[in-house]
Amino acid sequence: MLKNSCMRVSFSLLLGLFLTASLQAAELIQVKQGGLGRITIRPAGKVMSVNGVFKEQSIPFFKVDQETFVALIGIDMDQAIGSLPFLARWTANGQTVEKKFTIEVQSEKFGLQKLTLPKKKVDLDPPTLSRVRREQGKMKEAFRKSDPKKLWKGPFLAPVEGKRQGTFGRRRLINGQPRRSHTGEDISAPTGTPIIAPNHGKVVLVDDFFFNGRSVVIDHGLGLISMYFHLSSIDVVPGESVKPGQQIGRVGKSGRVTGPHLHWGMRLNNARIDPYALVNIKLD
Ligand SMILES: [Zn+2]
Repeated sequence: MLKNSCMRVSFSLLLGLFLTASLQAAELIQVKQGGLGRITIRPAGKVMSVNGVFKEQSIPFFKVDQETFVALIGIDMDQAIGSLPFLARWTANGQTVEKKFTIEVQSEKFGLQKLTLPKKKVDLDPPTLSRVRREQGKMKEAFRKSDPKKLWKGPFLAPVEGKRQGTFGRRRLINGQPRRSHTGEDISAPTGTPIIAPNHGKVVLVDDFFFNGRSVVIDHGLGLISMYFHLSSIDVVPGESVKPGQQIGRVGKSGRVTGPHLHWGMRLNNARIDPYALVNIKLD
């Protein structure tokens, strides 16, 4: 018995030493599913720019002061837990320098949302189905490119004053059948409540969709894109630059909803993240 526990102790000691040794090679960053990671580099010497590679995507760093570069990475709500490599690369004194990171994706508990909706709003007829497909194409197009410049500055604001429902990432059962998970956060507020831009950005989409209702999509640059659904009215046009606090529309219940609220979604380099991961947090 005693011998057994001794063996266990020395085994875990060895395992600990092994892990410590292997982790020294790559800095560990822990991020939850649907969360936001911040990677900081302080290169020695004069460096113009730093670039990152994560999940086969190029992740740009931005400069926060003379010596510091930062990159934000989003972990998609459906990303499997485990370790992912992140590689940062820059040029100093004519030499390429690389630094490795290990992004440890940790599990987040997402709840279950049961909804009952009229049958005709769930089982779509062929014309509605083709409308939905067309609209999905338009949304995809809006997400496809983001300004290579960082348009946002400072902490993000909450877009509306209201009760946060905690629905981000929820698995959904609609009329008893499993459907797509909920990709944003719902904020309860009465119809007509003003919605503001959370930060600087450029409006890349204004439309009226079957599921999302009256919708606005804002590009904040460097792959960060926010969206606002179910509005009763819209105060911006595509191509317009917006400032934090500027009214972009009003809360409503357009599209497929059960009551007035704002659906607020956020994408960072195509990962669907909890938009509140950015609110009132120093990021730059
Ligand atoms: Zn929603």
